[in-house]
Amino acid sequence: MPRIDHALIVGAGIAGCSTAIALAQQGVRVTMVEKQQVWKFQSSGLFIYSNGLRVLRDLGVLPQILEAGFAVRGGRNQYFDESGTFIVETVYPSPEGLPAIVGIKRAELHRVLASRIAELGVTVKLGATVTRMSDAGGEGPMRVNLSDGTQGEFDLVIGADGIRSQVRAEVFPHIEPVYSGFGVWRSVHDRPRGLDAKIMMMGVGKRLGIMPISDEKLYMFGVMLEPKDAWYEPADWPLLMRERFGHFGAPAAQFLEQLGPGSEVLYTAVEEIIAPVPWHRGRVVIIGDAAHASTPFMGQGGAMALEDSVVLAKLLTGPGSLEEALQAFAARRHPMCKLVQDVSRQVGQAGALEAADDCARRDAELRRDGQGKVDAFFAALDRLR
Ligand SMILES: Cc1cc2nc3c(=O)[nH]c(=O)nc-3n(C[C@H](O)[C@H](O)[C@H](O)COP(=O)(O)OP(=O)(O)OC[C@H]3O[C@@H](n4cnc5c(N)ncnc54)[C@H](O)[C@@H]3O)c2cc1C
Repeated sequence: MPRIDHALIVGAGIAGCSTAIALAQQGVRVTMVEKQQVWKFQSSGLFIYSNGLRVLRDLGVLPQILEAGFAVRGGRNQYFDESGTFIVETVYPSPEGLPAIVGIKRAELHRVLASRIAELGVTVKLGATVTRMSDAGGEGPMRVNLSDGTQGEFDLVIGADGIRSQVRAEVFPHIEPVYSGFGVWRSVHDRPRGLDAKIMMMGVGKRLGIMPISDEKLYMFGVMLEPKDAWYEPADWPLLMRERFGHFGAPAAQFLEQLGPGSEVLYTAVEEIIAPVPWHRGRVVIIGDAAHASTPFMGQGGAMALEDSVVLAKLLTGPGSLEEALQAFAARRHPMCKLVQDVSRQVGQAGALEAADDCARRDAELRRDGQGKVDAFFAALDRLR
């Protein structure tokens, strides 16, 4: 028997949607509130590696994800330097017959998750948030007031409301995100037929990546250090991206040349946060980016949110008390999320090296041991699972 009957999920991002599905599949009644009026996502594309795809399979949506996205055949990741000289090709693991890596539009991922949520009868309230919660550590279920004027009693409140989490601010007010120093520039382009691998171009102080996200489209992302609190007018983003990365050669050059007024470009100043354990207080728990937002350089933030959902649902419907389940949840997830965060930061720093000889050493090391690093990272995730 589930030890919770009714859960409230705050935030319908990847963590919220996947947890709603995982809990509903176990027979838990779920209400989910999302502050946006419509499902709208400020993002071009997303990589999902095999560990995230395994969860999507368990949530019953993998075929739809594969249909909407682009699975890189053989899991190939090709490295070039900024002039376009080939460095090395590495291969991501594809365990259990899963694809190694899929690129997908974030809106498509959410379309698929939303349709599974509807099938399972989850109550979703768009344009709604929590206005008041009873004391998280109090006796009995949480009493929660919502901005649509309704009230409810919930056995558990799950804060899946992202890096700026309101739920986290309520239960752990001292934990704040910090600026990573990196800015990410992302654009979307038509995919030439032959471009079917993930590509990374290692420049001087800058890195540029390309990833197919459907049969028709790919997205390109440029990463570099940006000053804290830098603000750029959104209408200028396409030209600013072109200015910053315009000296990169093939295979990125053709896409950089396309950037101009009206191009689909997003700029994000990247923050990170990792809450120390525990991730709950009484009947309130935080998950996904609310608990552990990483820099995006391992492309693992979404997969970590997905993995949270199945681990939490399993623990909540297993033996022991709610307190024990929530303690076990953070104890199990914290080491993996911390590893992702640490490795991702190192990857970011390697991509931001500015001295020519440091860059040459980095590229030589990639050539020598790039595959070893990939294998070691995924083996470490397996050990921590
Ligand atoms: C530039 C960049 C590139 C990335 N690329 C990748 C990638 O390729 N692969 C990958 O796996 N990950 C990637 N990530 C990380 C990934 O986007 C996040 O880890 C993931 O979105 C976390 O999901 P989440 O549901 O925890 O949070 P979010 O996606 O932030 O969702 C939170 C949701 O809660 C809602 N919300 C917020 N406050 C409230 C409130 N008070 N009440 C109700 N609702 C609320 C928000 O509107 C939102 O819908 C990237 C991140 C960045 C910044």
